Amino acid sequence: MNATAEAAQAPPPSIAEPAVPARPQVWFDGVLCDIDALQAGLTTHAMHYGSGVFEGIRSYATADGAAVFRLPEHMARMREGAALLGMRFDPAQATDAVLATLRANRHRDAYIRPLTWFGEGGFGLDVEGHAEHLMVATTSTRVHLGGTRARLGISTWRRNPADSLPPLKLCGAYVNSILAKRESRSRGFDEALFTDADGFVVECTGANVFIVRAGRVTAVQHRDALPGITRDTLIRLSGAESRTVTLEELFDADEVFACGTAAEVAPVHGVEGRSYGDNPVTRELAALYARVVRGEAEAARGWLTAV
Ligand code: PMP
Repeated sequence: MNATAEAAQAPPPSIAEPAVPARPQVWFDGVLCDIDALQAGLTTHAMHYGSGVFEGIRSYATADGAAVFRLPEHMARMREGAALLGMRFDPAQATDAVLATLRANRHRDAYIRPLTWFGEGGFGLDVEGHAEHLMVATTSTRVHLGGTRARLGISTWRRNPADSLPPLKLCGAYVNSILAKRESRSRGFDEALFTDADGFVVECTGANVFIVRAGRVTAVQHRDALPGITRDTLIRLSGAESRTVTLEELFDADEVFACGTAAEVAPVHGVEGRSYGDNPVTRELAALYARVVRGEAEAARGWLTAV
């Protein structure tokens, strides 16, 4: 191909679209910088004691450009966690930071990770006097089509009891999830399912659980489980009943699925030795959720923040 023919085939140069940055950009304490230009000190309080709060949020490519799904709800949950630790947290500033980072990285379908934490200031457990930080990182996500069906192992670890550690996205709380995940992986499962000492289902390590029986959708409710935003979305979309569910009921269900911002609607293949069959209700809900987050369903309009 000669140069003229090549030029004729090349897409026209765009003046309006800024280039994708050479290095991924992160927002850190008010400034956008290259992700590898930043370092945290070795006495960072959060690194020693888990004294931070994070969120997992998603943006989607919609017909009107990129939009963040249920951003105010994620910010409200983050504020609650920060308040518990006595941190200053400004949802308006964090919202701006999320949007600025997405724009800087030219991301549309993306996972968004804000984190606020106590930095340097000594080894004591008191958080007073420690620097407070806020960062936002974004990574582009692949569009899931169906996804794989997870196999769950029942965790021998209990979920953090709410009267010891409230179900919020506190960094240190996730050591509990890591232990359960490690155990289930070592037993050949993809993911762990937490149950309580009385035989009730709690949640997975980073997702809530639903069951379907005779066409009826039920959202597992438990005081130790994170009140997920995806869970809330699916309850509103499907009219699912929210109530406590025993492990026995879960085994008796026709379909089981997990859900979360990252997992979206994830069909469960089986739990321990119990395999579930076809999952038509889960597939229908997953398809509806995919339309809602992309602004293709009327219900979603108020849930999207334009980037
Ligand atoms: N449970 C746990 C423990 C989680 O970490 C998550 C992910 N945030 C969820 C449930 C699902 O919550 P959401 O739908 O708000 O992402």
